Amino acid sequence: MKVISHKAFLEPYRLDSAAGGRIEAVIEAIKGRVEFIDAIPADEEDILACHTGSHVDYVRGQKMYDLASLAAGGAIQAAFNGLEEPCFALIRPPGHHASADTSWGFCFFNNMAIAISKLKRENRIKKAFILDFDLHFGDGTVEILGNSSYVAIYNPDEYDPNRYLKHVEEMLPDDADIIGISAGFDNHKEDWGGVLSTDDYREIGRMVRKASRKSGGGCFAILEGGYNQRVLGQNVMALIEGLEG
Ligand SMILES: [Zn+2]
Repeated sequence: MKVISHKAFLEPYRLDSAAGGRIEAVIEAIKGRVEFIDAIPADEEDILACHTGSHVDYVRGQKMYDLASLAAGGAIQAAFNGLEEPCFALIRPPGHHASADTSWGFCFFNNMAIAISKLKRENRIKKAFILDFDLHFGDGTVEILGNSSYVAIYNPDEYDPNRYLKHVEEMLPDDADIIGISAGFDNHKEDWGGVLSTDDYREIGRMVRKASRKSGGGCFAILEGGYNQRVLGQNVMALIEGLEG
């Protein structure tokens, strides 16, 4: 599978207390098994399709514009690649807590919203579905895209792993042109949330691939949270294997 990433994501940055070494841990686990493609920064026009000018100025003021626009660009590449074959964006900072005019939780630009809205503006999709399986509710994505008739968003909220998988399977559409996964791995058994196993991520990948095949659409995933570096890499690999399924 093609994995969009960039060496700039390895650099530590201010305002990111939880993330040092995460990307390295994932690369260690997946190298040799995927094809890495360099991320290209998003155009400001693509960012402004989802964010206000004052938020873009705020991100510039935090000296995070270059890295955040590179992450958003990586998400766009994964989404466009995803139309042809499953694709993963190994990017940071994450994005699902970024709303049009504000952001928190290590997020700056909403990578998923920027990617999905670009597919729509360029008439590459009619319907989109976003599965956000991060432990935390993707408030920014819902704020930006929640009222758009072309996109449905599902944030599973379940503490029993079997019911969790069952609900995901039930919610996955059979008519979406693209399924985007906001892939945060902080709900793993050995991470903050403590619910899902590594095999569960593989199963979610399989279910998403199956649903996208059924609809003749595509699928992609982008990294959000996930903080136990001992298991993060294997969880990303499991999702990738499921999506390749
Ligand atoms: Zn999270």
